[in-house]
Amino acid sequence: AGGKSGGESATAAPEASKAAAGDKTEAKAQGMVGISMPTKSSERWVSDGANMVKEFEKLGYKTDLQYAEDVVENQVSQIENMITKGVNVLVIAPIDGESLIDVLKKANDAKVKVIAYDRLIKKSDYVSYYATFDNFKVGVLQASYIEQKLGLKDGKGPFNIELFGGSPDDNNAYFFFDGAMSVLKPYIDSGKLVVRSKQTTMDQIATLRWDGALAQTRMDNLLSKNYSTEKVDAVLSPYDGISIGIISSLKGVGYGSADKPMPVISGQDAELASVKSIIAGEQTQTVFKDTRELAKKAVAMADALLKGKEAEVNDTKTYNNGVKVVPAYLLEPVSVDKSNYESVLVGSGYYKKEQLEK
Ligand code: BGC
Repeated sequence: AGGKSGGESATAAPEASKAAAGDKTEAKAQGMVGISMPTKSSERWVSDGANMVKEFEKLGYKTDLQYAEDVVENQVSQIENMITKGVNVLVIAPIDGESLIDVLKKANDAKVKVIAYDRLIKKSDYVSYYATFDNFKVGVLQASYIEQKLGLKDGKGPFNIELFGGSPDDNNAYFFFDGAMSVLKPYIDSGKLVVRSKQTTMDQIATLRWDGALAQTRMDNLLSKNYSTEKVDAVLSPYDGISIGIISSLKGVGYGSADKPMPVISGQDAELASVKSIIAGEQTQTVFKDTRELAKKAVAMADALLKGKEAEVNDTKTYNNGVKVVPAYLLEPVSVDKSNYESVLVGSGYYKKEQLEK
């Protein structure tokens, strides 16, 4: 479904004939939207793309949905093609936030407006709006969960923790990490949390392109160098795909047994495999971000832009992209674990109960 592209069906003919028949309102109301998503390798982006196509189609727009498989050059050339095809607006979740400067200049020259989707587009003036979640809060939710599970507020500790970050070319990764560190740093400073690897800065803990396999390799190294006698009590993971890599590594050295329980492990996106892992008692937590709601926000922004109206925003100061502060709408992320996955994920219809049982 993710690869579904409405672009091919968006020929000029029907519009032209409608216009010729005097049905100008409808011809004018229609437009074409280019949707550029980073990769199909993570479920969330597949849902984001599909949800946007659905919502845009409801309003009568045609769509051209493309996935770049985490290759920056693919994304740039897909966007170029969309501009050539004559899209009226672009919705983009960038792979590398700083790689779109030139192509967005072309978009602007062609009078194509741009919306940043979930991830901020940096160093460009040509970004009208940003639809995302409260990314700082995502990190706060991950770290507060660890804080609560370990009983740090009750004075328990010291505990060993290792930290993982997201992709260094994704602006969100810094927000997640800063949010998490706003909770964890005081405990690290006081010695209640010990990072045995001593790797505590973004450049030491980042995971290029959010790659779970890379995280697994890093965890293997951390475990063999620092935990031959000690055990890990918690792992801050920014994303479910990374959590899965970390868990494989931990299992490889015997975690997950009665005498060596799994550490507390956070995550993000409530991806199916991770929700199952939470049910099975391996991953501990994830942060659910309802991609259906995000899609609706981005569609409303695009619709407003195309109709010459202002879109609804709720944040006009947080997201400075280096050239301008991009007006944003931030949705609320929700912490999910074994105790509330049913009410949050099944209750909201995000997953069906059967999907989680298999
Ligand atoms: C998104 C997260 C996602 C990550 C990896 C981030 O920009 O906000 O939801 O887990 O990218 O795809």
